[in-house]
Amino acid sequence: MEAEKSLNFIEEIVEKDLQEGKNNGRIQTRFPPEPNGYLHIGHAKAICMDFGIAQKYGGVCNLRFDDTNPTKEDVEYVDSIQEDIKWLGFKWGNIYYASDYFQQLWDLAVKMIKEGKAYIDEQSAETIAAQKGTPTEPGQNSPFRDRPIEENLDLFYKMNKGEIKDGTMVLRAKIDMASPNMHFRDPIMYRVITDHPHHKTGYTWKAYPMYDFAHGQSDYFEGVTHSICTLEFVVHRPLYDWFIDQFADTDYRPHQYEFNRLNITYTVMSKRKMLQLVQEGLVAGWDDPRMPTICGLRRRGYTPEAIKNFISRIGYTKYEATIDVSMLEASVREDLKARANRMCAIFDPIKLIIDNYPEGSSETLVTENNPDNENAGTREITLSKEVYIERGDFMEDAPKDFYRLTPGGREVRLKSAYIIQCTGCDKDANGNITAVHCTYDPDSKSGSEGGNRKVKSTICWVDCNNAATAEVRLYDRLFSVENPSASEQDFRELLNPDSLKVLNNCIVEKSLAAAKPLDHFQFLKQGYFTADKDSTPEHLIFNRTVSLKDNWAKK
Ligand code: ATP
Ligand code: MG
Repeated sequence: MEAEKSLNFIEEIVEKDLQEGKNNGRIQTRFPPEPNGYLHIGHAKAICMDFGIAQKYGGVCNLRFDDTNPTKEDVEYVDSIQEDIKWLGFKWGNIYYASDYFQQLWDLAVKMIKEGKAYIDEQSAETIAAQKGTPTEPGQNSPFRDRPIEENLDLFYKMNKGEIKDGTMVLRAKIDMASPNMHFRDPIMYRVITDHPHHKTGYTWKAYPMYDFAHGQSDYFEGVTHSICTLEFVVHRPLYDWFIDQFADTDYRPHQYEFNRLNITYTVMSKRKMLQLVQEGLVAGWDDPRMPTICGLRRRGYTPEAIKNFISRIGYTKYEATIDVSMLEASVREDLKARANRMCAIFDPIKLIIDNYPEGSSETLVTENNPDNENAGTREITLSKEVYIERGDFMEDAPKDFYRLTPGGREVRLKSAYIIQCTGCDKDANGNITAVHCTYDPDSKSGSEGGNRKVKSTICWVDCNNAATAEVRLYDRLFSVENPSASEQDFRELLNPDSLKVLNNCIVEKSLAAAKPLDHFQFLKQGYFTADKDSTPEHLIFNRTVSLKDNWAKK
């Protein structure tokens, strides 16, 4: 178990606020995804923070869909986001939508126009950007900045009635084009989107609020106390406060706090890029097991605990950094160690015939499910004259240090069964090896008195009378370079060509025909695996979650 962890810097802030009796001890957070894609492990970091703070301090965390851009949003994403949060093990208080506040936000914008604090700009996005200035040079005022209030109001209503074409008018806050904070240089509050239905409000609205205006107000309407987001919003915080100050009619204020985003090596962590991978068919969907999405990790065989332990280990800071993906892999390895029952799976099978084993007979043996978990118990397996072994466990002309099967070679133990000795092999007309032969020592059964004899190696096997065929998908890192987003090259050209290897004729114990997605197994010597969602008893499919050891460390 982890030692008691010290507080992260946001927990310190919350504890201080509680001591000072701020907001009468009320703690309220929100997790505010935009429903324009599936959640990824970066979001899991935000989720652990937002929900974690509420849980730890007896507060509430609400789920708020930040749905202010209908062109990219969809109910498919709304549904998947809820499923993923639940799967991670968190419970929200309420579900809200920024679109629930469209009327309230509109009324506030109208109020600002009436107070001479906002105006309609008819310039193009390019011109507005060009007038913004730079951090060291002031911007220029728009020629529309001093438009009369009545005209602004009239145009604002027209913007929302579909009388104004997309991209030709925006509502801007009239703040200060010379402000040292670029975000204060008359930020855009509303823009026009006419031709795209909103997933909740349809065509009711044609003028849509921008993030900076909508987010803080939504926090205020809901009573959020700690509005936690990532570091890129530090520079937005003064504007967040400014907008709220324009309307707040009580002393209560939500406060924004920022922590470092999660970036992981060999991974892209942006919904836009992930959407590209999905749309261009470069992966099999948002839940492709190579994707860093929550649903991809789930299908890959990650557990909520592995993800949460990883997040807890990397912690929260105020500095950007990139985390080595091997840390994530180590977390799932560690979690599955006690969780996953050990099974034999033969990836490249060949028959082993035990020549002195009685023809037509069979016996039941007992094997430990998981030596790393004393509660995992045992199970029965069967042995008969013919079993499958890994082709690589036999070598006809073996070097001295080959400890597995070779004619006249050393003794080897069949896992949980008997000691055998290889006698030879069969070949077809082309010289291909078709079967391996051995004899066994009937007095050497594992667990029996004669079973204590030490041999150099133990090999995996599956009884031919109790075997099922399976497809095994060996997943590896999706990208072959450490930082695909920082490269000069397009990230799509940096995909790892070996990120998926499919093995079609693997042999597993028949009991695995009942395996379901989210059941976890360790295939001995091979790695950790889970059943794929498309696996059926007729066509078994197993996904490799992670190898037993970090194979990249030595590369
Ligand atoms: P992306 O850049 O992948 O599209 P986003 O920030 O636009 O992500 P949102 O849906 O707006 O995605 O994010 C919801 C919440 O999750 C925000 O509070 C955001 O700060 C947080 N978040 C998003 N990506 C990460 C990340 N990589 N690490 C930590 N938190 C993140
Ligand atoms: Mg966003």
